[in-house]
Amino acid sequence: LGENGFLVILGGGESGVGTAILGKQKGYKVFLSDKGAITKEYKKVLLHHQIDFEENQHSETKILEADVVMKSPGIPDTVPLVQKLVENAIPVISEIEFAAAFTKATMVGITGSNGKTTTTLLTHHILKNAGLHVGAAGNIGDSFAMQVAENYYDNYVLEISSFQLDGITNFKPHIAILTNITPDHLDRYNYDFQNYINSKFKITKNQEKTDYLIYDADDDVITNWLKENKTEAKLVPFSIEKELEYGAFIKDNNITINIQKDIFHMPISSLSIKGKHNTKNAMAATMAAQLLKVRKDSIKESLSNFEGAEHRLENVAKIKDVNYINDSKATNVNATFYALECMDQQTIWIVGGVDKGNDYTDLLPLVREKVKAIVCLGIDNEKIKNTFGNVIETIVETAGAEEAVKVSHKLAERGDAVLLSPACASFDLFQNYEDRGRQFKKAVRNL
Ligand code: ADP
Repeated sequence: LGENGFLVILGGGESGVGTAILGKQKGYKVFLSDKGAITKEYKKVLLHHQIDFEENQHSETKILEADVVMKSPGIPDTVPLVQKLVENAIPVISEIEFAAAFTKATMVGITGSNGKTTTTLLTHHILKNAGLHVGAAGNIGDSFAMQVAENYYDNYVLEISSFQLDGITNFKPHIAILTNITPDHLDRYNYDFQNYINSKFKITKNQEKTDYLIYDADDDVITNWLKENKTEAKLVPFSIEKELEYGAFIKDNNITINIQKDIFHMPISSLSIKGKHNTKNAMAATMAAQLLKVRKDSIKESLSNFEGAEHRLENVAKIKDVNYINDSKATNVNATFYALECMDQQTIWIVGGVDKGNDYTDLLPLVREKVKAIVCLGIDNEKIKNTFGNVIETIVETAGAEEAVKVSHKLAERGDAVLLSPACASFDLFQNYEDRGRQFKKAVRNL
């Protein structure tokens, strides 16, 4: 990246505004363009930093004069303007690529189809508790570019989506974590799963011998790619299914890690976050911390007091010996499967919303075993009633979070749990999954 060039930014959200500020600070001429409206708050920031911008349009002639373009992750490659940039051989990069060029911090880059946020927050928590000067960025909190502009941290834990990875050329994390790969966002990858897989593996493409790739060895998509392709990074696997010669695995209900002389042992039951998937996330985060020389005792303490991410199996309250759990982030059947799997109490299950072609049959055995009653929280509940009508006697339909919580409260007895894990998107009754989770929590606190 040459300084004093003309930097154009497409998209006026968190990553766009952060990149504009960093670019300006580094001596670029900066122009930010958003096809839609830019929020009042971001406009204020842009004005304050005297950054040239436009909204509700793209001035194509001006944009095509760019030396380099930072495209926000939400803009697909297929939009005509981006195609034109590519035809004109103007480099189109992501915020991660741009910001990384201006920091010497050690980076842990985390990607995968699921578990990114949890693993990022957990890794950050462990490193911070150990006294490292560390920030979390990427899809979390203030943009990476903004934090680099303000020269915050010596270490970063970055949550990185495939869209951010599509726009990298030189970005290289010292430690990469790849949690899992399942088909997702295929509309942005020409409906070809292989394109999405290749995108995820860009996390390791610039890594060198002194770098590390931590990955899920139980994931066939990942292990097959590694058989057929090369990375320079040292491979650091984790598994909950088999013992490994090198890496993290389970032995007698203990997490066991043998990447250092001194073997790491910790009972799964001592982890603050529950469920098999979270055991995997804990293994990945632990190995990253070990590679950064954090002491075992410090890691163990952090693993046992981590509070978890909001809306992901989040313990809200215990009322009259009933646990209320917010798993609003579970917007598909797979995520809800994990949630039900780790319930060890009889459960009142709040489910429903906008279904993306759900097939609920995989959930039947778990529902039979653990669910006492179903509370529907969505507009169209036909499929839920049809699938579970034969196995669950009590299925109640409700029209809002407050009603759902009140009904659940009546149905629950001491020792039960009330779990919001909708397996559906939220847009029929809520703004988004965060809104759904917050309304649920508010209703619980009002009980
Ligand atoms: P992301 O940021 O990638 O969306 P989150 O950490 O927010 O991931 O977790 C979202 C959901 O994905 C969780 O509620 C859980 O059901 C599931 N999940 C979490 N970690 C994993 C994992 N390692 N493998 C598979 N699924 C996971």
